[in-house]
Amino acid sequence: MNFSQQLSLIKTLVPEGEVDTRIDCPFCNHTNTLIIRRIDSDLFWNCFSASCSAKGKHEGEMSMQQVYETVVMKEKEKEKDFVMPKSFVSIFSTDKCTDYLKKNHCIESYIKGKAKIKYDVKQHRAVFLIKEKEKVKGAIGRGLNSQVYPKWFMYGSKTYPFICGNSDTAVLVEDCASACAVSETHTGVALMGTSLPDRYIPVLKKKFKKVIVALDRDATTKAFDISNQLRYYMDTEVKILEDDLKYFDKPQIERLFNE
Ligand SMILES: [Zn+2]
Repeated sequence: MNFSQQLSLIKTLVPEGEVDTRIDCPFCNHTNTLIIRRIDSDLFWNCFSASCSAKGKHEGEMSMQQVYETVVMKEKEKEKDFVMPKSFVSIFSTDKCTDYLKKNHCIESYIKGKAKIKYDVKQHRAVFLIKEKEKVKGAIGRGLNSQVYPKWFMYGSKTYPFICGNSDTAVLVEDCASACAVSETHTGVALMGTSLPDRYIPVLKKKFKKVIVALDRDATTKAFDISNQLRYYMDTEVKILEDDLKYFDKPQIERLFNE
């Protein structure tokens, strides 16, 4: 029997899943000489009879569980070890970068050490580093002119939000620049859009007593959706904005939240 004939016969002899068995060999008819093992999805068989040539190894398709373990777990491994690209340099390397950070009220958070920001020479972006405690897990870069596409780019992990500030009240905002601006009075958390990714919920639960969802008037419905998602875990509030928080300086932000 050739390999594929042996394989189809072996498959009919054993159940799904892990197998480690010794049976009568259907190829040579000797008693208890055929060993069959399936480890993960790989099937091995071997007959100990000297006169028998039954022997083979078949690497099968991966089950969903195995796909998860090999692919998804490896992705998670990658997140742990975000390697900062060599193209990330000081924000002071170009005026374009510092100008952007000043105009969008981010420079204060950088100077006060609340935000780690770099300039990506290669992509011409102001890059906000995503940190969990002191570990850098990824980064989010803002293109510094209209030719840079997409406007916002995610480097590495997307499982953890960009957070800026030390307050136990979080303000959920649309982007990193607004998160930096609001860190003057609260802790800014960048959604990078107008919806709340599920994977951010445990982070918010753990770190904050209160969350204020501060989105643009266009996203009012979404702001209330987010507030509803979180209200079981902590105090929530919705603040509808007439303009992005990144255009506000500290006194303006203070006024806005004291209204
Ligand atoms: Zn045999």
